[in-house]
Amino acid sequence: MIIEELTMDEFAGGLEKTRSIVIPFGSLEEHGPHLPLATDTMTAEKAARAASRLGDLFVAPAVPYGMCRSTANHPGTVSIRGNTLRGLVKDLAHDFYRQGLRNFILLSGHAGGTHMAALVEAGEELLSELEDIKVAVASLLDLAGPAWAEIAETERDSHAGEVETSLVLHFAPHLVKGRAAEEYPTFPKHILVRDKRRYWPGGVWGDPGAASPEKGGALLEAAARALWSLASRLESLDD
Ligand SMILES: [Zn+2]
Repeated sequence: MIIEELTMDEFAGGLEKTRSIVIPFGSLEEHGPHLPLATDTMTAEKAARAASRLGDLFVAPAVPYGMCRSTANHPGTVSIRGNTLRGLVKDLAHDFYRQGLRNFILLSGHAGGTHMAALVEAGEELLSELEDIKVAVASLLDLAGPAWAEIAETERDSHAGEVETSLVLHFAPHLVKGRAAEEYPTFPKHILVRDKRRYWPGGVWGDPGAASPEKGGALLEAAARALWSLASRLESLDD
């Protein structure tokens, strides 16, 4: 059930079937010279919508901004602060709670560490504020990674590489502008660097050359199954 497409009566009817909701989180972030800036938002939203076709599950409109650190100096990357993201998660969850939702899955297409930490922190606060809710937080990469490893060939693929290029080739091929070269960033360990692009010039982590629309279809299906399985586990969790 895609919330932005429901009428108020359909929304109320949906609550009779389930109290579970996925909120997709994305980012506006460089994805190499060949993928759109909203890749993470699109993948999270597509995966959530595909999961909702497997059973009763509400899908919230996607949040198109997140926290991006290592790509901050590349053209087009625009971030919000941790406080803003946590506040937004909490506002949305509290109001979806008021509307009757109880099981919350915060699904992120962007897997950055600081971004995920903000989602986890907001989720923990929600758990202590609302006694009868359940919360799950996962990036697509974490959630579907094991299944994706059976489909993708590149081993350390994580950003604008084989997986994301395949996914966008599958659901929006007109937005893929050729293929960037294989690349793996080499940031100095433990040190925060000002000029991040110097260590990651092309903004790709993996091998876009190995991508195909067929793989994209299989990757999306695997993500949908992993997400549906998480939704089912969350719903039946006795916490
Ligand atoms: Zn991405």
